[in-house]
Amino acid sequence: MSDYVTVTHEDGITVLTLDNPPVNALSLRLREPLYKALEAARDDASVSAIVVACAGRTFISGADISEFGTPAALQSPSLRNICALLESLPKPAIAAIHGTAFGGGLELALSCHYRVADKTAKVGLPEVKLGLLPGAGGTVRLPRLVGPEKAVQMIVSGNPIGMAQALESGVVDAIADGDLTAFAVAFAKQKVAEGGPHVPVRDRDEKLAPARADPSSFEAAVKEATKKTRGLEAPLACAASVRNAVNLPFDEALTKEREIFITLVGGVQSRAQRHLFFAEREAAKVPGIGKEVTPRTIAKVGVIGAGTMGGGIAMSFVNGGVPVTILEMSDEALDRGFATIEKNYAISAQRGSISEDEKGKRLARFSRTTDYADLADCDLIIEAVFEEMSVKREVFGKLDTIAKPGAILASNTSYLDIDEIAASTSRPQDVLGLHFFSPANVMRLLEIVRGAKTAPDVLLSALGIAKKIGKVPVVVGVCHGFVGNRMLGARSAEGEDLLLEGASPEQIDKVFTDFGWPMGPFAMGDLAGLDIGWRNRKSLGTSAVIADSLCEQGRFGQKTGKGFYLYEAGSRAPVPDAAVAKLIEDKARERCVNRREISEDEIIERTLYPLVNEGAKVLEEKIAARPSDIDIVWTNGYGFPIGKGGPMFWADVEGLKKIVDRLDYWYGRTGKDVFKPAESLRKLAETGGSFSAKPA
Ligand code: NAD
Repeated sequence: MSDYVTVTHEDGITVLTLDNPPVNALSLRLREPLYKALEAARDDASVSAIVVACAGRTFISGADISEFGTPAALQSPSLRNICALLESLPKPAIAAIHGTAFGGGLELALSCHYRVADKTAKVGLPEVKLGLLPGAGGTVRLPRLVGPEKAVQMIVSGNPIGMAQALESGVVDAIADGDLTAFAVAFAKQKVAEGGPHVPVRDRDEKLAPARADPSSFEAAVKEATKKTRGLEAPLACAASVRNAVNLPFDEALTKEREIFITLVGGVQSRAQRHLFFAEREAAKVPGIGKEVTPRTIAKVGVIGAGTMGGGIAMSFVNGGVPVTILEMSDEALDRGFATIEKNYAISAQRGSISEDEKGKRLARFSRTTDYADLADCDLIIEAVFEEMSVKREVFGKLDTIAKPGAILASNTSYLDIDEIAASTSRPQDVLGLHFFSPANVMRLLEIVRGAKTAPDVLLSALGIAKKIGKVPVVVGVCHGFVGNRMLGARSAEGEDLLLEGASPEQIDKVFTDFGWPMGPFAMGDLAGLDIGWRNRKSLGTSAVIADSLCEQGRFGQKTGKGFYLYEAGSRAPVPDAAVAKLIEDKARERCVNRREISEDEIIERTLYPLVNEGAKVLEEKIAARPSDIDIVWTNGYGFPIGKGGPMFWADVEGLKKIVDRLDYWYGRTGKDVFKPAESLRKLAETGGSFSAKPA
């Protein structure tokens, strides 16, 4: 008996109830008494079967990842020891699963002879999402229960499955009716009465036999599961480990799984992904908001503007179960906006990602209007109209007259000053920025922009509703472009000069995709539409020599079939264009720029080092609260590769001294502000410091 494991007996069945709140993670303090209790039950001749169950809201939800890298993680008994003990028992062990059995929790359950579960339970091996593979036999045992094809799909995706699938595929043996523990005890008694044999999973090879005879369908499953791994090592390692389970004897496959785990856990990618896992949780905590602050209720949302962003924002809330009223300037604009929304839902239903019934329910949550008075009962109103201060001020002025007291008023502006927008109302404490990313119903990032006067409970409410609709919120301060777009400006600043000095769009884009970005900046520009930046530059009186020329020729990117690249009809694949190469050369000649070979390192130094430098400035100005918040913005909103952990984590790995030295070099050579090292960055570099709390 211990605080963490309670032992009870019933008619020869021992029930071990694990209790390590909040989620029964497999910390050392749980592993020790569990191991002892299993030994005792094994040695007690009066015990004929053992049920492993959990107290609280869930079965074991996984390893205790806060133990990673600490001595406790290495201390015996390890999870592997527990799994081996379970599997060697001369009497059957039954896992009784409720809530979630994820990672180490499922691995423990897989080491039992049988698994029964509550019908709402979920099981999965999500280690790949932390850059790892299941390191306690998951890749070797799961294929024996569900077959290697299904196993590779589950382990490489890391996605959980519900009980219907779990029963059908063989992960669980029975679904409980009523009380889970009582069901598990009855199941145990029945198995004892049947007399066995109780074959441990390690000895069940029947589902491996077909792949051993002919690996083709397994290899096809591997190919399918790993087709979008984008430079990440863990998905390939997971697949390799399942392949070992097929081809090698159990113990050998287990040893190999361990070796691969150790390599991954010490590697940069897994450290980066674990950093992001904690960073996302950290980002939801806002310094200075105490427990005394309570959020406002948000039961109904208004969205102004049914364009690209307004439609997507409205869909995000509706998908999260919150009814939305959309306001537009005219019925025609409303119809246009709604046609897009309806089309999006029709595609989802066609693909099977939502049912027809669900589609109907979601569409029924929308109301539409052209009359501001219809927004009077909204708890939150989000403006997504044209990006012009005068229009924004006018809209907020109107909102001030109709919104109910205490309603939260938000702007989706990409760049504009939230404080100036707030000043057009008599209630600046209720105003903030909610900066969604395009497409807003898909992208998870939400920058919550805190104005000078935004009230703490308004901020807290925004964080709460963001979570409810499945977004990843990061609180940022007011400046031109906030965190993401401001840093994007620094990343893009040298693009045109690199072209003029000798690089090509395809060369620069390749450096980016080799780095792990899903797309380079020029392919991205073509996708987004070059005309957006062109119009913006015209209104600001600025220019970009190559992009402006392309736009003057009507080359707006994918939508016109031509931009920095050519696009064949119906294709999104960028094809380098000799006419663009000539345009670049001509413009360079006009400006007397001598074109030369541009190296990969130079491209990184002139794009990603300024990105990091701007990040340091953003931190100095307290626009972001922590370096890890910036990493969350960039990995969730801009495609920074997760295996590199975000720009600030990557900067630590790259070496701050190296970055500052090269920024100094480029600043000396060009005198451009983007290269002038931030004071804080220089100081960190000089003192051997780093951005991450735990130095990489
Ligand atoms: P859009 O042109 O697609 O849509 C704007 C919509 O607002 C139009 O349908 C227009 O009819 C409507 N509108 C304009 N004035 C109005 C008014 N006074 N009352 C009611 N409706 C009005 O623009 P968008 O791309 O959706 O951008 C909207 C806002 O979101 C801008 O502030 C933009 O900076 C920001 N934003 C855009 C993106 C993006 O990628 N497009 C990303 C983040 C933020």
